[in-house]
Amino acid sequence: MILIVGGAGYIGSHVNKSLNEAGYETIVLDNLSYGHEESVKWGRLCNCDLSNIDDVDEVFNKYDISAVMHFSSFIDVGESVTNPEKYYNNNVVNTMNLLHVMLKHNVKKFIFSSTCATYGIPQKIPLVEDHPQNPINPYGWTKLMVERILKDYDTAYGLKSVILRYFNASGADASGIIGEWHNPETHLIPLILDAAIGKRENIKIFGTDYDTPDGTCIRDYIHVTDLADAHIKSLQYLEKNNESNQFNLGNGQGFSVKEVIESVKEVTNKEFQVIETERREGDPAILIGSSKKAKETLGWNPQYTDIKQIIETAWNWHKKLNKEYL
Ligand code: UDP
Repeated sequence: MILIVGGAGYIGSHVNKSLNEAGYETIVLDNLSYGHEESVKWGRLCNCDLSNIDDVDEVFNKYDISAVMHFSSFIDVGESVTNPEKYYNNNVVNTMNLLHVMLKHNVKKFIFSSTCATYGIPQKIPLVEDHPQNPINPYGWTKLMVERILKDYDTAYGLKSVILRYFNASGADASGIIGEWHNPETHLIPLILDAAIGKRENIKIFGTDYDTPDGTCIRDYIHVTDLADAHIKSLQYLEKNNESNQFNLGNGQGFSVKEVIESVKEVTNKEFQVIETERREGDPAILIGSSKKAKETLGWNPQYTDIKQIIETAWNWHKKLNKEYL
């Protein structure tokens, strides 16, 4: 069985679906602090908190777990700056608790959700896996610390991990039954969709004076179903090779904030107010990842390369989640 920690959240719930479709049995461990019980539509749900080692141990006693995927991190960069303790406690200490119980039960396959935020300010685009890692906020540091811990745990204890550095996860499962559901929401695409559906009055562009063709930040938006597929392939990689590795997961293309807003207008056919405001602190102008290594080593091939396709799936889900605004 595969244990999905944080499987009630956005990416975890999509991976849960893909794992079940690929024939794996899953158990979701989630404290439902940010996740949603309704998103756990496959496998079993254990409502359990990683800070409670005895409860986690109980889950490992009860089920025959062969590998663990870990999604339950806090992800709000701004909050990590104002409340780093919350971030180090959950993202680092709780992850160590999980690894502790895994080792106790001799479970030595681990897939970890890391982030392009571990690279900090890019020296060269597209970002490759051996680009220097110098995070510029506590969130990025928490992820890099776990990456370091995993390296040492491999050497000392033989715990094998695949570290997946996500670029901008986006979109929703094509079925429309699960999707992005954050509270509070801070990500660009769902915030623009909120403006399109009338839940927010406007969308603010954080900075129009970047060194990019239209002055707004460029990001690499990668569809959550493609991310999910990379997790299955990473699991198969661990099963086959039993060696640790790290991969970027992006679609290799960048879209500016203005381009994303225009695509949302096209897809939704809605007009809404767009306000140009100051830069948000800590935003690099361009973040685009090279996924060459994941493609070559894992045989991964992202299907959603067009931003409109990504937004269509997100909009399909967004309308269901926010029916009352239609
Ligand atoms: N952004 C924006 N307005 C918003 C939210 C985000 O202009 O209301 C910009 C943000 O500055 C960044 C891009 O959209 O350049 C993507 O931001 P998001 O928070 O979705 O992801 P990040 O790249 O920070 O992981």
